[in-house]
Amino acid sequence: MRTLDDLGDLDGRRVFVRVDFNVPINDGVIGDDARIRAALPTLEELRRRGARLLLAAHLGRPKGRDPQFSLAPVAARLGELLGTDVTLAGDLDHVPDGDVVMLENVRFEAGETKDDATLAQKYASLADAYVNDAFGAAHRAHASTHAIAELLPSAAGLLLQREVETLTGILADPARPLVAIVGGAKVTDKIGVLEAFLDTADTILIGGAMCFPFFKAQGHAVGASLCEAEGIAPAERVLRDGGDKVKLPVDLVCGEAFDASTPVTAIDGVDVPDGLMGLDVGPRTAQAYGEIIAAAGTVFWNGPMGAFELEPFAAGTRSVAEAVAKASGTTVVGGGDSAAALRQFGLEGEVTHLSTGGGASLELIEGKTLPGVEVLT
Ligand code: ADP
Ligand code: MG
Repeated sequence: MRTLDDLGDLDGRRVFVRVDFNVPINDGVIGDDARIRAALPTLEELRRRGARLLLAAHLGRPKGRDPQFSLAPVAARLGELLGTDVTLAGDLDHVPDGDVVMLENVRFEAGETKDDATLAQKYASLADAYVNDAFGAAHRAHASTHAIAELLPSAAGLLLQREVETLTGILADPARPLVAIVGGAKVTDKIGVLEAFLDTADTILIGGAMCFPFFKAQGHAVGASLCEAEGIAPAERVLRDGGDKVKLPVDLVCGEAFDASTPVTAIDGVDVPDGLMGLDVGPRTAQAYGEIIAAAGTVFWNGPMGAFELEPFAAGTRSVAEAVAKASGTTVVGGGDSAAALRQFGLEGEVTHLSTGGGASLELIEGKTLPGVEVLT
């Protein structure tokens, strides 16, 4: 993969930088600016080398030009972080000069998600070089993540480089034992990752609503738990192929509804009575998983252990997050909700690598090549 060093002299040159600034925005206020801050090392390095920046990013999934999806709040926040003015360009035909200019939401352009060659030409005509630092969008072949890279001298930014090197590193030559913690809502979202880890991991710890298709496959009652029907066959396959590698919860914390004020029932075992839903793993599970995590050479965690957004059901995820934070091995966390959980517990700085990419990190773990990375190679 080509990196910033391969771009040579950038003094006075304009660099088109694709960043992942897809942050949560409510009524014009940014909820969490972690993705903006994650791009700063690349932007500062390019500015240090004398480059002028033309930033491009997407925000949400707008249908056409929709002011609700404007990057204006992001440009303002970036300006504060960089300590310089960031000018927002209204459209591609009127891109002002300036040291730091940001294009409007690239998804306002009809050709963006189609990897359109004409749009890519237009982007390329505005700059002298191309840098992709948008790891969270690197699994998409879009005009600003893919087609443009073939038209200009191009390279990966520091964030994209670190994400790819770290995530491919865990699979290529992990310190052992390699422990994968896979949780979250759906087996079908994570089946590719589970299958990859069946080959590479020493132990797979399963949690979240994802455990219910496994329990159902084993003949347990799941009550009213979130239990995806299409997940049962994949879960059976993982159980069959994984043998002792695959660990499931041994106790649960249940409620009557997905609600913070529901009565809480702890169950020692995994048969969920009618009318209850499993919303967290229990303390014996958390303890057992914690011991396995402490002894790991490498930990990869994706997907919370329960409905951590609801305080009565956050303990299992908190306990696993604390074990990951304390572990002496290399620890890598991927996935939007897993990252949110780490931040909720104030542990985001305690892991070796917190990936900014959800889908992209999972696809890398699955061994897929990402179009936005391949085109820089
Ligand atoms: P990530 O974004 O880290 O990949 P997912 O999106 O797969 O994670 O899963 C996160 C969601 O799963 C959270 O919203 C959480 O509330 C939900 N979840 C986890 N466990 C349960 C459960 N037992 N019942 C219902 N929802 C759950
Ligand atoms: Mg999620």
